[in-house]
Amino acid sequence: MAPVTTRAVLLRAHDYGDSSRILRFFTRDHGLVSVIARGVRGRSGKGTTTLATFASGDLTVYMKAHRDLHTMKDFVCAEVRDDLAAHMLRFAAASAAAELVLSHAEADPQPAVFDTLEAGLDGLRTVGSDALPGTALAVLWTITEAFGFAPQLDGCVRCEEALQGDEVGRFDFSAGGMRCAACSEGAAGPRVGPIARRQLDALLAGQVPDGLSHTRRHLGLVSDFIAYHVVNRPLKSLRFLGGMLPADDAEASVG
Ligand SMILES: [Zn+2]
Repeated sequence: MAPVTTRAVLLRAHDYGDSSRILRFFTRDHGLVSVIARGVRGRSGKGTTTLATFASGDLTVYMKAHRDLHTMKDFVCAEVRDDLAAHMLRFAAASAAAELVLSHAEADPQPAVFDTLEAGLDGLRTVGSDALPGTALAVLWTITEAFGFAPQLDGCVRCEEALQGDEVGRFDFSAGGMRCAACSEGAAGPRVGPIARRQLDALLAGQVPDGLSHTRRHLGLVSDFIAYHVVNRPLKSLRFLGGMLPADDAEASVG
């Protein structure tokens, strides 16, 4: 059996037995791959095998058909990203991105998700602290969109009329997007105005909009959208992340 080599990012790891670890990688060519790495614990720090969470590199693995657990041959680390663990908000955002990918990805290649995840992790390392909450939101939205789920923001999900520039509607989670003002009467979703819609457009494009505020409410939007459409349950790490964002002003809507 010939081993395969693929670019991979390590998303979760736990000890197994006396000297081994079970590692869950998201790979560019094979989607989610769980491997057993034998004898890696207790190894001295020399060499290129840096098995830290969020590290990227070339994973070489013996893949057996119809198995969930494969055997790692080697991991040549190219990017350690251990700086993410040194800052609580950066770590929480990276953990949320990891949980999102671990909860939805399967063993089929999704290179766009892989590239979006890697770019997102690197963004979380380098961005200044002012833009960090917005970057966390952009990472979650861009991964969600790369999985094939994007909210409908321009036209009403109910009557299909285009939303006007200054129109305030409500977000309809089960329908996956905006309701116009007329269709929002009696609806329960959060009020979303024109500024927030433009901010959502920017976040989906991976950009942090100028003057972004209400980041907790924005996190609520992306969390509920993910729970409705991507994962079908709330992600624990998103609640953890929400507790670290700045508290919002006491208003009932986003923008
Ligand atoms: Zn409508």
